[in-house]
Amino acid sequence: MTTNAALHARRTAAIPRGIANAFPVYAARAENAEIWDVDGRRFVDFAGGIAVLNTGHRHPKVMAAVAGQLDAFTHTAFQVFPYEPYVAVCERLNALAPFSGAAKSILFSTGAEAVENAIKIARAHTGRAGIIAFAGGFHGRTTMTMALTGKVTPYKKKFGVAPAGIYHLPFPSDTADVAVADTLRALDYLFRADIDPGDVAAIIIEPVQGEGGFLPAPAELLRALREVCDKHGIVLIADEIQTGFARTGKMFGIENSGVEPDLLTVAKSLAGGFPLSGVIGRAAIMDAAEPGGLGGTYAGSPVACAAALAVLDVIAEEKLIDRANTIGARIKSQLEAQASRNDVVPIAAMRGPGAMVAFDVVKRRGTNEPDADATKRVVQAALANGLVLLSCGVNGNTIRILNPLTISDALLDEGLAKLGRALAAANV
Ligand code: PMP
Repeated sequence: MTTNAALHARRTAAIPRGIANAFPVYAARAENAEIWDVDGRRFVDFAGGIAVLNTGHRHPKVMAAVAGQLDAFTHTAFQVFPYEPYVAVCERLNALAPFSGAAKSILFSTGAEAVENAIKIARAHTGRAGIIAFAGGFHGRTTMTMALTGKVTPYKKKFGVAPAGIYHLPFPSDTADVAVADTLRALDYLFRADIDPGDVAAIIIEPVQGEGGFLPAPAELLRALREVCDKHGIVLIADEIQTGFARTGKMFGIENSGVEPDLLTVAKSLAGGFPLSGVIGRAAIMDAAEPGGLGGTYAGSPVACAAALAVLDVIAEEKLIDRANTIGARIKSQLEAQASRNDVVPIAAMRGPGAMVAFDVVKRRGTNEPDADATKRVVQAALANGLVLLSCGVNGNTIRILNPLTISDALLDEGLAKLGRALAAANV
């Protein structure tokens, strides 16, 4: 029988430290919102494989759809021998597209690949190269998406210079003392100092910054960016990789603002644990790339497509958009009760739409001074209590909650009670 300790020794010897592990525990099996490790310990899962499992681990409908596809075929390469599940996923995504007019979609495997391709499509459509992204944003770890990501350590450190034509604006946040007006002033400055708006292909933004700390993009900012994009013929890309598929109480996070993007990147919860990503966009923009310019050997795997079709059914049948709002309200009310206790580590700034909820761990009650060390203690104490919890944020002091939306009330309450005990244990 293998153990966490034995596996961790093997992992350390065989795998570089560049891929970090949140915890030295190894999965044996998982079901909906619970994971068991190889030592037989049970955990409530508030990480959801980093926002991948809005429909939970091994949803029976997803597993049945995958099993059916395994019996038919597992790979042909869509470019070589196309298949219906790919077409059907794109039709479903087009119907969900949060903008007026015709949509087309294309599929890939990872989130970073979706972002890479959204940039290629925007460049092909505009004939321009410039891309504007945001400080604190996260778009992936490939060379282009690393450049778009707005955080140096650990994502860019030691990895050389970014490709030309990428610019970052400050992202509005109370803790960073950046207002929407500051962001727009920086954009105006950028257009005068660095790049003509006529040379900009796209502005890419997360409707709620995920890795950056669950910071919602104010609707006022999104509306202003829409205006700038319309005025200058720039493509507005919403990176919905973490915010998509019911997490924010809407199908896509940007729907909370009423602003219509031109392209959306999707991945993570689209296929309930199978690698699938995509770009959804206005048909006229999506057709800009020449035949053969887009794609990939595994892009739109039939197995992942079968899973995605079942995921989209489950989101509708189990009303997970409504459920996200109910879950979010329940989490927030319990966190508010925790925040008023004196025997727990000080927490502040509870936030997030739907079930994309986060809070900050701070040095003193009533301040927003980040406490990254206490945050680490909370995450470790949660693990010791049988709760998988993730931190995030540019200051490393945000705790984010990404439990499956299929979680039962009883399990959610059990997880929140464990979180309460972790907040108390971290108060040293
Ligand atoms: N964009 C966003 C908003 C993300 O949260 C992530 C992953 N955390 C990515 C892109 C990259 O996705 P992947 O890790 O699948 O490449």
